Amino acid sequence: MIDWGGLLKFTCECLLPTGPFDSPGLCFARPPSLRQAVKRVLSIKKIHPLSATRREGRQAQRCRGESTAQAGQIIFPRSHDCSLENFSFEFNMQLTYQPFELELKHTFTIAKFSRNSTPLMLVQIAHEGCIGYGEASMVPYMGESYQSANDFLSKVDANQFKYPFDFASIIDYLDSIAPGNPAIKASIDIALHDLEGKLKGEPCWKILGSDPQQMPLTSFTIGIDTPEMMIKKVKEAGDCRIIKVKLGRDSDKELISTIRSVTDAPLFVDANQGWTDLQQSLDMTHWLHEQGVLLIEQPMLKTDIDSNAWLTERSPVPIIGDESVQRLPDVGKAKGVYHGINIKLMKSAGMYETHQMILKARELGLKLMIGCMSETSCATLAAAALAPQCDWADLDGPFLTSNNPYKIPEFKDGKWVLNNDAGLGIEML
Ligand code: MG
Repeated sequence: MIDWGGLLKFTCECLLPTGPFDSPGLCFARPPSLRQAVKRVLSIKKIHPLSATRREGRQAQRCRGESTAQAGQIIFPRSHDCSLENFSFEFNMQLTYQPFELELKHTFTIAKFSRNSTPLMLVQIAHEGCIGYGEASMVPYMGESYQSANDFLSKVDANQFKYPFDFASIIDYLDSIAPGNPAIKASIDIALHDLEGKLKGEPCWKILGSDPQQMPLTSFTIGIDTPEMMIKKVKEAGDCRIIKVKLGRDSDKELISTIRSVTDAPLFVDANQGWTDLQQSLDMTHWLHEQGVLLIEQPMLKTDIDSNAWLTERSPVPIIGDESVQRLPDVGKAKGVYHGINIKLMKSAGMYETHQMILKARELGLKLMIGCMSETSCATLAAAALAPQCDWADLDGPFLTSNNPYKIPEFKDGKWVLNNDAGLGIEML
């Protein structure tokens, strides 16, 4: 059928002419508006046989004793063994993308870097009249850029993606194009998950087996700043009930005391590999425990496995590996080194592998946190679809950015609300 509202879903029935057609090889579809619809189809797929020339129309009409072709008529070749319901209309996958600079509300400083915006690549994959949305958030220290994203996407053949999607094969295909590039791989994986949900008419969270009732609270992240600015940022936390603080400098205790002067909300702490001395780090975990800290991310260098393991063995607060855990093979390596892992779509190459990491971590008895980079509602909803399967969530992208191109999803009682819309549930502005 044709949805004349703009989304086009074609089956052969819609092309069946209403009258008898005896002319060899040709038949007509009369509604003039069909011409435009068919042109759209022609532009996205290689239909054969199918043509729409006036000359063939006149030929067909002469065969049927009609005098002239009429403007707007579309002519469909008709093979002798083909009643049109046997026509196969295979739509190609259409991959399009555009760069987008996501502005941050505040200059964001963590232990090693500062920035005011983040380069994104917004990706769309269209198929059978549905569009799947994805995005890559390419924070500079992860090594991806507009250039690397363009290079990678130019090598992607979207027709490798066959619906129903086999995501394990798709990630193998993406990995075969080039190693690394996890964010741009995630953008394709997210778009295909959104598309899958729309084609199935089901929300992604449901397809992935998540229970919205199990959605964890999302933290609100505060970067390193002056005491005045940190107090201002705490007040911007709104409905978020957990504050995440970036530490990793000499002034860590002062920063926590500043936060504590304005809120008694539970805290996540992220040291971003900034701690170096073992005994000082252990003393810090005890002090942070007294301050109501629920977890500590990546205290020491990701390469210093022994120090992270030593601290994990002794810390009263769960130690979570973040920079040290990128993709599925890293999950097994985290056991015995950390209490849990922080997974992010932009590190793991997307929703499929994140889900596999969740299953693997559960099998190994590791705790799970799901986090984000600077992201729009699109990647946030992609992570939120899996968040109910994790213990903690840090999905605050939409709160920290000022030019999100999508509507901010519903956020209630400190948690993202998963809706029943097909796909990710993205709403356009
Ligand atoms: Mg972190």
